[in-house]
Amino acid sequence: MKAPAFDYVSVDSVSEAIAMRAAHGEDAIYLAGGHSVVPSLTLRLQAPSILIDISKIAELSGVELIDGWLRIGAMTRHVEVLKHPLIAKHAPLLAAAAPYVAHPAIRNRGTIGGSVALADPASEFPAMMLAIRAELEVVGPEGVRRIAADDFFQDIYETAMAPGEILRSILVPPLKEGTVFAFDELARRRGDYALVGAGLQLVVKEGVVKAADIALFSVGHTPTRARNAQAAVMGKQLDADAIAAAQSALSDDLDLSDEPQMPASIKLHLARVLLGRLLGKLGELT
Ligand SMILES: Cc1cc2nc3c(=O)[nH]c(=O)nc-3n(C[C@H](O)[C@H](O)[C@H](O)COP(=O)(O)OP(=O)(O)OC[C@H]3O[C@@H](n4cnc5c(N)ncnc54)[C@H](O)[C@@H]3O)c2cc1C
Repeated sequence: MKAPAFDYVSVDSVSEAIAMRAAHGEDAIYLAGGHSVVPSLTLRLQAPSILIDISKIAELSGVELIDGWLRIGAMTRHVEVLKHPLIAKHAPLLAAAAPYVAHPAIRNRGTIGGSVALADPASEFPAMMLAIRAELEVVGPEGVRRIAADDFFQDIYETAMAPGEILRSILVPPLKEGTVFAFDELARRRGDYALVGAGLQLVVKEGVVKAADIALFSVGHTPTRARNAQAAVMGKQLDADAIAAAQSALSDDLDLSDEPQMPASIKLHLARVLLGRLLGKLGELT
């Protein structure tokens, strides 16, 4: 299928983009890497009258350290997340997740901002925003605001951004001493969207878990923080008992329902297997 006809405009600044969006209302959508927008147009899932290309806005690019926080511009491509030395050092969980996002051709164009703004519950980066406790910096007609990742994802493809707001940056807090991390997903084929995936960032001191951030994806309507599993490992050594307790707690964390290709019970089983593997790996490291 071909996309319905639309106009296209490329803008140089966030303020220009916001003004253009305000002039056209909901008929306009922002275009970043285009790897979700373009398929949705050709499948005729949406039919905007105008695409506002934000990919050349300098303000949306760059990766830098500011007062100990890592700022990742929204237009940072998936491939840069995979390779950027500052991301490897200050947000290693994102670098670990990046190779699992689609295939190289898509990683060359797709952007982390596009992925987070789209809020697909099956995507890797939105869930990792929870695990790294990122804050999302958004700009709109009313100015700039920061939204904690835990408050950002509200439903399938729905975020706390108001219509017309632009995600400018992902802000990553400094890593604490003793931070360890692990990422993995189960997929039918490498590069497919995951059946279930998880990223963990823990602080472990003298073998004891002092902080735990565990996020899963492809397990419901939003990226999901596994609060009960986190509580199960807090203050514990990552031994078989603690891992089993975390796996067991997942049933209280996940609101699963039967899907055409997978009953909820199988998905819960896969999530438990994955969590057990990742906690086991971290247990061996610490
Ligand atoms: C075959 C295929 C396989 C894929 N597999 C995976 C996968 O395994 N895992 C995965 O996570 N993704 C996957 N993707 C999606 C891909 O990673 C997209 O590139 C990404 O989700 C969206 O980023 P984008 O820059 O292309 O955004 P776009 O497609 O340009 O935009 C996506 C949405 O976000 C909005 N938007 C974009 N940037 C901003 C911003 N800065 N502020 C506000 N709104 C914005 C747009 O208006 C649009 O609604 C796949 C895509 C394809 C085509």
